[in-house]
Amino acid sequence: DRLIVAMDGPSGTGKSSVSRLLANRLGASYLDTGAMYRAATAWVLTNDVDPGDADAVAALTESIDLSIGTDPAGERVEVSGEDVTGPIRGSAVTAAVSAVSAVPAVREKLVALQREIADTAGRIVVEGRDIGTVVLTDAHLKIYLTASAETRATRRNDQNIAEGRGDDYDAVLADVQRRDHADSTRATSPLRPADDAVTVDTSDLDKDAVIDELMRLVTE
Ligand code: C5P
Repeated sequence: DRLIVAMDGPSGTGKSSVSRLLANRLGASYLDTGAMYRAATAWVLTNDVDPGDADAVAALTESIDLSIGTDPAGERVEVSGEDVTGPIRGSAVTAAVSAVSAVPAVREKLVALQREIADTAGRIVVEGRDIGTVVLTDAHLKIYLTASAETRATRRNDQNIAEGRGDDYDAVLADVQRRDHADSTRATSPLRPADDAVTVDTSDLDKDAVIDELMRLVTE
């Protein structure tokens, strides 16, 4: 029996860890589409292409050879046989990924690959921003994970403190709000819940409570 769960929403909602946990509980595969946009971005940077040059980015990614694992216990991402699992989490990639993912040709290429992976998986949790609205519109369950901007800013600021990057809640909140605006108003695949998505607000829920709610929705 096939099962496709689409998990969309902004960052800072716990989307990645919740998606992995859910896939584990369901004995399903897990696809992190953000990692694919990050891998394309790493490839752009490795090839010294300007991430802001949409035509050059489109030309380079046309023939990209990208592979990504779907084990919820840990993903491995490769471009042209080179392991980029570490570099895609670095600050250079993080700074350039929105420019690269705004290029329509990049989205077409990666969306096709995402559909192929989901088609062959059988049971899979697919995490991203446009999975329910664009990539897998007939997913069995569409979840839109959200949390207040203040909650997401607090989580990110706490993480910054823990990782030695300083404590500046006001700046982090301003950045969260700026990105929310950019993500929801961009021309290609703006971030929004699908009409048939179930919105789950994680502001006042811990991870276990979120998983319980999602398991209830899957088996409903
Ligand atoms: O989820 P993550 O933060 O790793 O995603 C990195 C970036 O990739 C996002 O900020 C967004 O710009 C882009 N992205 C996207 N569509 C997706 C997944 C990610 O545009 N389905």
